[in-house]
Parts: sequence; structure tokens; C-alpha cells
Amino acid sequence: MKVLKFGGTSVGSAARMQEVAKLVSGEGQKIVVLSAMSGTTNSLIEISEYLYKNNPSGALERINVLEQQYFTTVDALYSNIKIQKEAREIVASHFNYIRSFSKSVFTLFEEKAILAQGELLSTAMFQLYLQEKGENSALLPALNFMRIDKNAEPDTAYINEHLKKELAQHPNKKIYITQGFICRNFYGEIDNLQRGGSDYTASLIGAAVQASEIQIWTDIDGMHNNDPRYVAGTKPVPLLHFEEAAELAYFGAKILHPTCILPAKLANIPVRLLNTMDPEAEGTLISNQCKKDKIEAVAAKDNITAIKIKSGRMLLAHGFLRKVFEIFETYQTPIDMITTSEVGVSVTIDNTKHLEEILNDLKKFGTVMVDSNMVIVCVVGDLHHKNLGLQAKAVEALKEIPIRMISYGGSNYNISFLIRQEDKKRALNALSKALFE
Ligand code: ASP
Ligand code: MG
Repeated sequence: MKVLKFGGTSVGSAARMQEVAKLVSGEGQKIVVLSAMSGTTNSLIEISEYLYKNNPSGALERINVLEQQYFTTVDALYSNIKIQKEAREIVASHFNYIRSFSKSVFTLFEEKAILAQGELLSTAMFQLYLQEKGENSALLPALNFMRIDKNAEPDTAYINEHLKKELAQHPNKKIYITQGFICRNFYGEIDNLQRGGSDYTASLIGAAVQASEIQIWTDIDGMHNNDPRYVAGTKPVPLLHFEEAAELAYFGAKILHPTCILPAKLANIPVRLLNTMDPEAEGTLISNQCKKDKIEAVAAKDNITAIKIKSGRMLLAHGFLRKVFEIFETYQTPIDMITTSEVGVSVTIDNTKHLEEILNDLKKFGTVMVDSNMVIVCVVGDLHHKNLGLQAKAVEALKEIPIRMISYGGSNYNISFLIRQEDKKRALNALSKALFE
């Protein structure tokens, strides 16, 4: 069994859905995970904003426009009049459901129910299209098996058990369709896996059914070795280790949601990134293997704030770092990078919601300095400490750039640099030139 996930752009129009249908009609049993059609989730958020602001007429106007777009897609998608009529009725029923919220109090709970409609629509339409084409397919409602626990973490035991039950209800189908992103929470309410969460759905399903491969289909030909918005001539990386891909996904490569890697890695299921616009392209294969002695890629994450805490009290003391980290924990602020010396420690954060409080608390422990508008540049590859020279090459490439922090040795796969925003373009280009040309 393979799991294939198609993102919003890949199902963004009738023509694109027809392309996806061709791609999934090949040999072998598969579970197909779909996002909402591109733009839909954003529109549903906008509709929810009107409803939060108690403006039902604003919401209704937006709902009507979106519904009309769906009718247009439906008319283009099907050639069988009976199926087209059925699809129109399904679309109308989803939009009537969305409209029903304009009459009641609006809370986060209602918003999540509205957000779920995007994936419910795309999958219902796609299943009908496969039916029209005479494919042997079935729709598996994600709300019957995808669930998160009290900590909003996936409840894998529940998912395994209930997905198996759903599959057993439709034996011997070739194609199973299901919704990405949406799930139920601990209380059984409709919830979701956060924006971009369809990749996560695919990975969780892949792990649950022990898939032979998880394919993430987007509109780019794989993970590139640098950011194409800043560097010309970037190339897709054919092979990445799970840990390399995790670093890249977290530090800027937008193609894959960072949470997606972990379930696949734990279950040791390879993840392949493929391009719907160019299905023959090799893409990127992410697995437990890495290319030896090679730096693979560079990514950058913006809007980083660095905090330095200097203290004579840190010298030869124990427990100092714990006290510092506890402050970040209190304000639920994740730390990305850390560097230490005997008299000080620097950390970076990207969520500055509680920066003021954090700085106030840190001042109890030492002198605190802040640098904002920083960028983490992350270089990934076979960067084991025994591989002499690879780190040196990365550092050498940045010799003209002021570097605020360097982090190396946290894993065998990366070295990260903290630099100023204004040096980003220069740094990325210098790295590409030194490492990939
Ligand atoms: N439709 C959701 C979003 O736009 C989930 C996804 O596409 O992955 O965030
Ligand atoms: Mg996406």
C-alpha cells in the first residue's frame, strides 16, 4: 500500500483534479489524501472572521462567491449529467451547512467545523469523479479515524485501530480517498492538525498502515538545495536523510510541513516528494539513508530574535541553564538555536509574543542583550564530526559575513549560522557558490 498526498494547488481546478485522477489510476493499492482546493481554507477563515465579528451578511456574501466557484468547478469536472447533479447537491449541502453558522453564536468550535468543509468538499468531488471514470474507489471519512489527544498530539493507537476498521468496511478497493488536515479532538469535536497539516495526515496514515512509501505531491520538483527566491539555478536534491529533511523543512523549505517527517521516520517509511506538473521528474526521496561526504542543501528561517544572557554567576555553576530554560518554558516559547560559553549563553526564538516577560525574568540571572531581525541559515548534509573539512567549507563560504552564532554537533546532519537579515541574500549565494558549484 502507498499513501499519496496531493496539496491544494494539485487539486486546485477541475483540470488539475483530472490530472490527479490519472496519476492515482496506475497499478497498486493506495490511499489518496487530499487538501482543500487552493484558496479554500483561507476563504473559510475569512468567512469565520466575519462571523466572529457578528457580521452575517459579510459572511453570506463571501460564502455565495465561494459556492459559485465550486459550482463552476463541478460543471467543468464531470461529463455525466447525473453525476454532475449529484456533485452540485453535495456542494450545496456543504455550503448550506456553512451558512447555518451565521445564525448562531460563533466560537473556535464552529470555526473548526467550517474549516473542515474544504477537505470534505475536495474529497467528495474527487471520489465522484473517480466513480464517473469507473475506478474501484472508496471514500474513508477522516473524522472517523484521525484523532488528537488532550495535548493535541496524534492518538496513534486510536488512528491505527479505527483506520483499519474503515478499510475493512471497503475491502478490495484499489483507491481509498480521504481528507488531509481534519481530525477529531479528545472530546470528539471536529478539529484539525494546523495549517498545512495534510502532509502530517499522510505521514500518520502511512505509519498506521505500514505503507511501502508516502508520496507528497506538490507543484515543485522536490526539495531544492537552496532558496530559489534568493539564489538562481537551485536544483532539487535527489536523496535526503530524514534528519536532513526535518532540518530543511523546519528551517525554511516550504515544500514539506515539518511535522510530517517524524511519523514516517519512526515507522521507517520513505517519503517521496513529487511534482504534479512534471510527474516524471525524479523529485526528492527522504529515507534513512544519506549521501556520504556531501553537503546537500541550505535553508533559511527569517524573523529570528537572539537573546544573550551574560553572567559571572554562570562560571563553574550548575543549574544556571535550567533556570534560564525554565523561563522559556513558562512562556511556552520554543528555543531554536543555543550557543554557550563559560560566562554566557545565547539562544534564539522565533515567537516573540512573550519577549518582554521573558527578558524581564532573565534579568534576574544576568545582563541581557537582544538582537532582532536575524536569520538562521541552516546547512545540511553528511556533517558527522569525522568528516573533515565539510564544516570548514561552510564557515569559509561565510567569511565575509558577520556571524552572530554558530551551532554544530547537535546532530550529525547540520551546521547552523545566525546572521543579520540584510546579509541573508549574500550568505545564501556565497554558500551555493562554495558548496554546490
Ligand atoms: N487545507 C489546509 C491548509 O490550507 C491543510 C493543507 O492544505 O495541508 O492549511
Ligand atoms: Mg500544503
